[in-house]
Amino acid sequence: MINFVFCSSHREFSVSLRVCDASAMEKPGNQILWVVTMKPLIDTYRHKGLRKKLAVEVRSKGVRDERVLQAIETIPRHFFLDSSFVEFAYQDKPFPIGSGQTISQPYTVAFQTELLNLKRGEKVLEIGTGSGYQACVLVEMGARVFSIERHHGLYLKTKKLLEEMKYRPRLFYGDGYKGLPAFAPFDKILVTAAAPYIPEPLIQQLNQGGIMVIPVGRGQTQVMMKLTRVSDTEVSKEECGYFRFVPMLEDKAD
Ligand code: SAH
Repeated sequence: MINFVFCSSHREFSVSLRVCDASAMEKPGNQILWVVTMKPLIDTYRHKGLRKKLAVEVRSKGVRDERVLQAIETIPRHFFLDSSFVEFAYQDKPFPIGSGQTISQPYTVAFQTELLNLKRGEKVLEIGTGSGYQACVLVEMGARVFSIERHHGLYLKTKKLLEEMKYRPRLFYGDGYKGLPAFAPFDKILVTAAAPYIPEPLIQQLNQGGIMVIPVGRGQTQVMMKLTRVSDTEVSKEECGYFRFVPMLEDKAD
C-alpha cells in the first residue's frame, strides 16, 4: 500500500494505491492493476444543512446540553464513514467503519457525552476510539482527550484522519481494560464498547468528583451506568437506560 496526499489550490485529497497482485511487479512487461481510492475531505452547505437537522433530531430524543448539540452540528460526520455510506452519515444510526467495528449512533454519542457533564479543560479518557467521532465531540467541547483503541489498523486509520481534520486528541493503541495509568487521574472516563463488568483500573484512574459513563452487560443490550467518585473509597452508581454496543474485548489486536 502506498499513500499520497495531493493538494490543489482549494482542496486536499488523500489517495491510497494498492497493488492487487504484488508478484506481477517482479515480471517485466506485466501489467499492474492499481486500485485507487480517493476520499476528499469536502464539507458542503448540504452537509451542514443535514447536520443541523440531525442535531434537531437528537434534541427531539431528549438531549438538552447545547454544547453537545453544537458539536454535532459542527463536526462533519461524513468524514468518518467509508465513502459508500456517505449518504447515510446524517441519519441517526450506527454504521460500519471497518475491522468489524461501528461508529456509534449520534444520539448515543450525545447521550453519553451529556451524562459526563463536561467542563472546558477537563481531562477525559475514552475507551474505544473507533472512528474518532466521539473523541472529536469531546475535543470540540474543550476537553483534553486521551483515547485508546485495541485495533491497530483502526488506530492508524483514525490517527491519520484526525490529523487531516486538524483535531488533536491524544490517541493510544492499547487495551482499554488497563486505562492509562501514566496519565491518570481523569476528570471523566467514557467507555464506548460493551463492558462485561466495570474494570477496576478505570475506577482507580477516576479523579475525586469524577464521572465515568460505561455500558455494562454481557447480553445483546447493556445498561448505561454513570459512576461518580464521591470520596477515595466511595463510588456512587446510577442506571441510565439500555443501549447496544459492540463488545469490549480483552488485549490488543492487529
Ligand atoms: N467511540 C467510537 C465507537 C467505536 S465502537 C466512535 O466514535 O466511533 C467501540 C470501539 O471499541 C471499537 O473500535 C473497538 O475496537 C474498541 N474496543 C473494544 N474493546 C476495546 C478495548 N479493550 N480497548 C480499547 N478499545 C476497545
